[in-house]
Amino acid sequence: MKSYKDLSREELLQLHAKLEAEYEDAKGKGLKLDMSRGKPASSQLDVEMDIMDVLTSSSDYNTEAGMDCRNYGIVDGIPEAKKLMAEMMGVGSADNVIVCGNASLAIMYDTVSRSMTHGVLGSTPWCKLDKVKFLCPAPGYDRHFSVTEHFGIEMIIVPMTPQGPDMDTVEKLVSEDASIKGIWCVPKYSNPQGYSYSDETVKRFAALKPAAEDFRIFWDNAYAIHHLYDGAQDEILDIISECEKAGSPNMVYEFASTSKVSFPGAGIAAIASSKANLDDMRKAMTMQTIGYDKINQLRHVRYFKNLDGMTTHMKKHADIMRPKFEAVLKVLDGELGGLEIAQWTTPKGGYFISLETMDGCAKKTVAKCKEAGVVLTGAGAAFPYGSDPKDSNIRIAPTFPTLEELCEAADLFVLCVKLVSAEKLLD
Ligand code: PLP
Repeated sequence: MKSYKDLSREELLQLHAKLEAEYEDAKGKGLKLDMSRGKPASSQLDVEMDIMDVLTSSSDYNTEAGMDCRNYGIVDGIPEAKKLMAEMMGVGSADNVIVCGNASLAIMYDTVSRSMTHGVLGSTPWCKLDKVKFLCPAPGYDRHFSVTEHFGIEMIIVPMTPQGPDMDTVEKLVSEDASIKGIWCVPKYSNPQGYSYSDETVKRFAALKPAAEDFRIFWDNAYAIHHLYDGAQDEILDIISECEKAGSPNMVYEFASTSKVSFPGAGIAAIASSKANLDDMRKAMTMQTIGYDKINQLRHVRYFKNLDGMTTHMKKHADIMRPKFEAVLKVLDGELGGLEIAQWTTPKGGYFISLETMDGCAKKTVAKCKEAGVVLTGAGAAFPYGSDPKDSNIRIAPTFPTLEELCEAADLFVLCVKLVSAEKLLD
């Protein structure tokens, strides 16, 4: 297909008129589709209903060590759940893990909140400092940015590359500025690009020499086992052991949950870190709760048993998700390939595809889609303060709609990308 940039003005005008007509037609169809939500389809939730059957009123509710999960006790998670989550995160020892409630985002929030009010391993509470800053590789996960914005933490964008955040920038900023206290990372199948950090990136993270003693890497390993392709999956180094080896065991907090393994909102979530960091956290946790939902922890352990159980289970998710990713990518390749008006990622796992339009076209494209009945994630949502400096990033979430709905939505989406791009080139 001929690049839009090689078209004469006359050709562009003709193309624009044709696209306008197609768009008006599409609007007439009265579509009502949603490609905005990074959540499992109900068909995915159906395949895991067996989880609910492993514990019944006649089950044994004791842990392997004989602790009754129905009662109070064990604030930091039952040992077998720690083991399961350590395996899922690729962390060497269950001693480095605390299992909490149902959501990793809540643990991330609490971790930032605790640092604000009580400091980090005895440091000055962040709320008493004039300025606290976080590095935010972007595009990234909008809720990370909402947490830091909520606490008045200044966010600094770091560009993303297919190997992870631009480490030259990270190293420079972190070593020079003691007000930088953290960085948000989604190291595997990142939200929204689906990038996985290279070994070099992970090692450079572990080797960071921050100006702030209380600087922490917030390593959100949300998509650790969320592969789309059997046998062609990304693997990343274990940041916990890399930080230990580099002599900075306290520099990282790792987070994960089974939200997209079992049930979003009813899974189990964990944090992994050094003993010192976890002891600090446990002190605050005992003020917060007498214990999390151990019955749910036990249910997950009894169902999955170990990483093999989880991996086998995740193949069922992949079988439902893969055709959806492939359908969207086919439309993108077929309709936008060679036009030089957009680039997109081809993830091997995770929940999203990320597309870059020409500068200044993302908001208009999302608005055009909405006008014709297809809802996408708001343009800019993947950037701190909801503001994409180039107004070019669009996050596509293929999992929730049915395959049929998705194909309709993708057709309209590419039409809008073309129309808005033609308009820009005519401007
Ligand atoms: N982290 C990332 C990168 C996510 O994409 C999501 C959900 O989309 C979450 C965390 C939420 O995880 P949880 O349900 O454990 O709070």
